[in-house]
Amino acid sequence: APAAINFDVAERAGKSVPAAPEGISPAHTDLATYRAHGGYQTAAALVNGEMDFEAVLAAMEDSGLRGLGGAGFPAGRKWRIVREQAALAERRAAPSEATAPVPGEGGGHLPPGGSGPREAGERGGTAVMAVNIDEGEPGTFKDRTYLERDPHRFLEGVLIAAQVVGTEAIYIYLRDEYHGCRALLQRALDDLRADPPCPLPHIELRRGAGAYICGEESAMIESIEGKRGEPRMRPPYIAQVGLFGRPTLEHNFETLYWVRDIVERGPQWFASFGRHGRKGLRSFSVSGRVKHPGVKLAPAGITLQELIDEYCGGMLDGHQLYAYLPGGASGGILPASLNQIPLDFDTLQPYGCFIGSAAVIVLSQHDRAREAALNVMRFFEHESCGQCTPCRVGTAKAATLMQAPQWDEELLDDLAQVMGDASICGLGQAAPNPIRCIHKYFAHEVGEGPWPGDLPKPRNSPLAEQLPQGG
Ligand code: SF4
Repeated sequence: APAAINFDVAERAGKSVPAAPEGISPAHTDLATYRAHGGYQTAAALVNGEMDFEAVLAAMEDSGLRGLGGAGFPAGRKWRIVREQAALAERRAAPSEATAPVPGEGGGHLPPGGSGPREAGERGGTAVMAVNIDEGEPGTFKDRTYLERDPHRFLEGVLIAAQVVGTEAIYIYLRDEYHGCRALLQRALDDLRADPPCPLPHIELRRGAGAYICGEESAMIESIEGKRGEPRMRPPYIAQVGLFGRPTLEHNFETLYWVRDIVERGPQWFASFGRHGRKGLRSFSVSGRVKHPGVKLAPAGITLQELIDEYCGGMLDGHQLYAYLPGGASGGILPASLNQIPLDFDTLQPYGCFIGSAAVIVLSQHDRAREAALNVMRFFEHESCGQCTPCRVGTAKAATLMQAPQWDEELLDDLAQVMGDASICGLGQAAPNPIRCIHKYFAHEVGEGPWPGDLPKPRNSPLAEQLPQGG
């Protein structure tokens, strides 16, 4: 289980951070406690027309909050786009409202439209929201941690987003493995419905079925519609044509979790955190060879070394930093020598990596990057939805080739190129990242370069005897 969240980041930064205010228990916060500390007042003010939605939209844009599921798309911009798309769709549907699209079979229940023609630019009522709590990225457990502590903070973010964007219905997609979270979230929803702070939109809690690919937004939408979870080709983007054919606002759990605090404390509050030129807060799920793994709420742009030293109590005794995965399975592998890169969206691309959902896995001299890479490739092979050949066949072929003591660099490079260029979705496109990282940073492990003199050779590994004895 992840360790406690480092809420004391604020004290270090000389500021205050939400979610652990006075009086709120570190255990699950119930509705009464949440409301006693001002909860749902912002959502109610918005729904009751006492707050201007345009001001909320502007606050979201100014805060710099980005999609924290991994894509990093600016949240405020997404709200505006979906809002505009909903208005567009509604104008198009207005002349033939009686025949407007209805939810697909097995896809669930949308409330009756009840949305007469609107003025141009007015909020459309045809959009829906899909919330992604599939949290299947290996090494990621931040959403679960926050959900288990403060479910109503998330639900208030959902209500605020729904009101600003104008979504008719909300579908929360929760991974099946989170049994406790499901019970907790269901109870939170039941409590909210029993004592609503304002009129509530239609909200459904849906269970995933254990497929990693259903964390991809369009595959999740297919799954919610009752179909096999396979990513869709784009365009159209789901902001235009998404769940049940409607403009769809899709968000990761944590993105919505911060909404209330950004609206109430102001966009500058969120943007004032950050290091090394980056802005905002990031929740790192840290695991591996550190003394104190867990969810670490830290300034965006913190380096790996700072994260280990200041938030994780340092490396485990007897372990030295050798490598790290900055973004779970998809984000690539970096060597210890690159431990000073600011960790954030856009900062790792020059190194062939990305931060994704900020799952940081720390490896030491007792680990091998090539074994981590192989493990990751096997994971992708298992989780490929099989829809397109470069990914379905490529991941399997790569996993086989990567077991050779000495890699066939040319063949693996060729395979990586095809997978990256021709796969439909991010899974197949990102799957070759570990291959490229091994070539670039850990060539000594796969027979492409001398073994560094200061690095102990692997022991107790079937690969050890076959490894080249260079360096
Ligand atoms: Fe499915 Fe892989 Fe193709 Fe994505 S890239 S659609 S996971 S086969």
